[in-house]
Formats: sequence, C-alpha cells, structure tokens
Amino acid sequence: MSENNGVQMAVTATAEPEHEDLFKIAVQQFHIAADVIELEDDVRGVLSHCERELTVHFPVEMDDGSVQVFSGHRVRHNSGPGPTKGGIRYHQSVTLSEVKALAMWMTWKCAVVGLPFGGAKGGVQVNPKLLSRNELQNLTRRYTADIQPFIGPNKDIPAPDVNTNPQVMAWLMDTYSMNVGYSEPGVTTGKPLVLGGSQGRSEATGRGTVFAVEEAARYIDLDLSSTRTVVQGFGNAGAVAARLMEERNKSSVVAVSDSRGGVYNADGLNLDQVTKHKDRTGSVVGYLEADDVTNEELLELQCDVLIPAALEGQITARNADRIPARIIAEAANGPTTPEADGILYDKGVMLLPDIFANAGGVTVSYFEWVQALQAFPWTLEQVNDRLRQVMQQSFQEVVKKSNEHSVHMRTAALVRAIERVSEFTRVRGIYP
Ligand code: NAD
Repeated sequence: MSENNGVQMAVTATAEPEHEDLFKIAVQQFHIAADVIELEDDVRGVLSHCERELTVHFPVEMDDGSVQVFSGHRVRHNSGPGPTKGGIRYHQSVTLSEVKALAMWMTWKCAVVGLPFGGAKGGVQVNPKLLSRNELQNLTRRYTADIQPFIGPNKDIPAPDVNTNPQVMAWLMDTYSMNVGYSEPGVTTGKPLVLGGSQGRSEATGRGTVFAVEEAARYIDLDLSSTRTVVQGFGNAGAVAARLMEERNKSSVVAVSDSRGGVYNADGLNLDQVTKHKDRTGSVVGYLEADDVTNEELLELQCDVLIPAALEGQITARNADRIPARIIAEAANGPTTPEADGILYDKGVMLLPDIFANAGGVTVSYFEWVQALQAFPWTLEQVNDRLRQVMQQSFQEVVKKSNEHSVHMRTAALVRAIERVSEFTRVRGIYP
C-alpha cells in the first residue's frame, strides 16, 4: 500500500550506497538526463535543490513512563507542478540525505505520469517494530503536530511508505484535523476506506504495472494471450500483477517467488492454489504442483514478460544477457543496474522503468486526494479506468522521448519528467 517512490534510478541499484550519498546520486542522475535535453543552467540550479527541508526532534512518552526523543524530517523537493506528494517512512536508518533524494525522485515519478504534484518525502528515525501500538500512535501524532505547518491538502500530502500503513495515516489525518478544528481527509492519502481512502488503492501499483505491460505489448505487437509471465516477489505489487496478467490477458503465469525462493510450472501455475499455500505456510516454496527454483534461476526462466516486484539490484551485468523476456516491467524500485540497462537495451528488450511502471500507486493516491477535495467518492470501475488511461498515455509519451533522443526507456522517462517540471519553472518565473 506504500506510495513508495524510491524511483531508484539505475545508479542506486548497483551497490546499496550509504544513505549519506543518496542525494548526491539523485542529483547526478538528474544532470545526466538534463544533459540529454541540454537543460539551461538556471533551471538546473532550481531543480537540483530541495525547496524546503524540515528537521524535527520531538519527545514521546513511552508505555513505561519514560520519555524518548526521536528525530524526523519532511522535505519538499519542488512545488512547481502543484502541492507536493510523498510517503512517510519509519526506519532506524532514515537520514536527511535519503529523504531529500526520495523527495526528488517523487517529483520525477509524479511528473512522468503527468500528475499535478511535486515531490516530497518524510521519515522518522525509529524501528517501529520495537514500539507498542500506543507508542506508535503517540510518535505519529507528535511528528504530525511538528510537521503540521509544512503539510496540508494544498501544500504537501503525505502517504504510507516503508513501515507505515493506513492506520498511521488515519492518526496523521486525525491529528491534523484536531489542530485545524475540522475534518481534513485531503491532508493524506492511503487512508482506510472508512476515512475516505480510495477504492482500488491497495491494488493500484500492480494494476498500473499490468496496464503498462498491455500498452507495451501493443506497441511491440506481442499477443499477451500466448505469453508466459514470471513474477519475482509475490507481495502486494507482485501478487496483484500476476493475477491480472492471467485474468485480464490470459497470459500463463509460470513462476512466482518470495524471499525464500520460487515455484515454476511450465504449464502455468494455479495462482489461487499458490496463494492458499502461501497463506498456510508463509511462502510459495513447496507448492506441490510446481518445481522449486531459486530467485536467480527464476529470472532466467523461459518467458515473455518478466515482472520484478521484490528488491533492488536483481538484474545485473551477470544475468541480463540470459534473461529471455521481451518485456520487463519494474514493479519494484531499482531492480535493474545501469550495466544491465545497457545490455537489455542492446538486446531490444522493452524495459518499463520503475519511475513509470510502478507509478500506479501514486496515481491512485492522486485520485484519492481528488475524491477527498470533492467529497465525492468514485467507483472502483472509475478508478481503474482512469488509471488505465494515465498509464497508456504516459507509455506513449515515454516511448516518444525514447525515439526522439535515441535513449533507453529509463532515461526517456526521466527526460519526460524533467522537461515537464522545467516547463513549470520557466513559465511560473522567479518570485519576486
Ligand atoms: P511486499 O512486502 O508486499 O512484497 C515484497 C515481496 O518480495 C514479498 O513477497 C517478499 O517475500 C518478496 N521478497 C523479499 N525479498 C526477496 C528476494 N530476495 N527475492 C524474491 N522475493 C523477495 O512489498 P510491495 O509493496 O509489493 O513492494 C515490492 C516492490 O515494489 C518494492 O520494491 C517497492 O518499493 C515497490 N513498490 C511498491 C509499491 C506499492 O504500492 N506497494 C509502490 C511502488 C513501488
């Protein structure tokens, strides 16, 4: 359910960089794409900085009566396109540099699918697994109160990310509402349905990925009904993508995996049975109607569509050459290294980069925000239909950039995003 931006352009995927380096890397990636379009220095200067950075240190009363002080951040990268949008993560390794990089990547992700949002990100340095529910609520409410001047339905709209969820968003929304004196559901997305969460939000990332695959297949003239699909990572994004590849497109899903390994049946898996097996045992591994495979072997299985939906750095210079898929759709953030990008491009693989292929989540977050502002909920059908239109149109835009500049789809997506945000910067001009 996370509005997980980690656009994780290829450079970050290689070697788990220190978080201190992340913003530097994000800026380097920006300049590489900016060079392609010969972006002028003034606009570069604006876009290579984060607009606002807030750091807070705040006390929380723990269950045993003691007080602990936590540190958190909220960063807005660029508000040219509109209010800023991005998740809040709770993790012990959160740093300001990481949050800045993630905020910048959110700007590009929103821009590549044409949302009227800039990018933002928040984080608190905490291991939430060590907190009770009560402590988690206290921490969320105090962090919200401290960043309250920074956020708002027309300013900056948080969402769930690593280790945060709809309940955390409900506490955030309630705290904000109590402080302003009225209910403000538009201050966050990824809320529980009862508080104005959107239909289709929890499935949006996987569904968006499949819409992207469908458009790519049309473009390369591939009939999906005669294809095989492999999905790495049978979690929120991957399980939905696998099911929809079968349900909507009659593609045969021959392999899926999780952190313990994968299962493969060349004749296609029965996904209902695999899901039941996973619910019962905690893993897809050991499902009887298939052979067990490792996660490395899974990537090289004979298939037409490969959907990495787990971790970063899975497709590298070591295995890219042996991956037979014609379409690779990155539901995960950063699954492909820069070296592998080049190899896949030379092989003619249609790679749908994370910044585009997993943007379904933030797109439906945008729909949730629109519904909250209008106090007018949409049906699931309306949500899915609009998501499909966004993914289709964005695919066409990215392909156009790829052809226009003779660059691979990852660079093309970033180019489209930077061009779009630059235009806001130019047309709005400099205040005062
Ligand atoms: P999740 O935790 O629901 O699922 C992750 C799955 O990957 C699990 O099945 C897990 O067992 C599996 N996994 C973990 N380590 C693995 C390994 N080494 N090899 C194979 N599988 C492994 O997470 P999710 O929300 O589905 O996110 C998956 C990816 O998609 C992440 O990269 C995330 O950043 C990205 N993403 C998710 C969303 C979203 O809305 N859920 C949005 C954008 C991007």
